[in-house]
Amino acid sequence: MSLKEELIKISHRIYEKEFVAACDGNLSVRTNNNTVLITRSAVCKGELGLEDIIEIDLTGNVISGKGKISTENKIHLLLYNHRPDVNAVIHAHPIYSTAIASSKNLFDKPVFPEVVLTIGRIPLCKYSTPSTSELTESMMPFIDDSKVFLLENHGVVSAGESLTHAYYLLEKLEHTAKILINTEILGGVKQLSNQNLESLYDIALSVYNLNIKDGNKF
Ligand SMILES: [Zn+2]
Repeated sequence: MSLKEELIKISHRIYEKEFVAACDGNLSVRTNNNTVLITRSAVCKGELGLEDIIEIDLTGNVISGKGKISTENKIHLLLYNHRPDVNAVIHAHPIYSTAIASSKNLFDKPVFPEVVLTIGRIPLCKYSTPSTSELTESMMPFIDDSKVFLLENHGVVSAGESLTHAYYLLEKLEHTAKILINTEILGGVKQLSNQNLESLYDIALSVYNLNIKDGNKF
């Protein structure tokens, strides 16, 4: 499967999962030539086709493709320019994660061991006007370490090693958001203790060879 075909597959999937509605959201992937394939603006992610993908360089100049690139291209370029480990970026508005990013931040506590290990700390980026450089500035305090970013009163961004990885981060985040909202109904979460966390980080390193970056620890 080509990168463009993979981008289309993941685009359709995020629409089917209701991580976006109408023409919301945008996706991109880094190519072997260090260019970026990104979705054009104002296209429904459930109907994305080959003609809706535009190739740009790392400063946002169009190399090939028709139409306007996504208005949130700054988010994507910020990540590719700062993070050599990031090869795919998805910006979406999943219902439960966005509800948390717009009300009570239930993501600020460590609750689930596998979320602590696979996603790490989930930062809330201060509200800023969509598609402006204010928005990318709000991500800067967390840019070096985070895999996902909550955008206050807006949505989320996931940054993965591949399109599938970026998609799984998003799916995991949204699944976690649903559980956290249910814990509120049942009286609130029981968060992991510092001792629980230390044991978890030890196991991650000794058993899974997973070295969690300090900036990504709770
Ligand atoms: Zn958005």
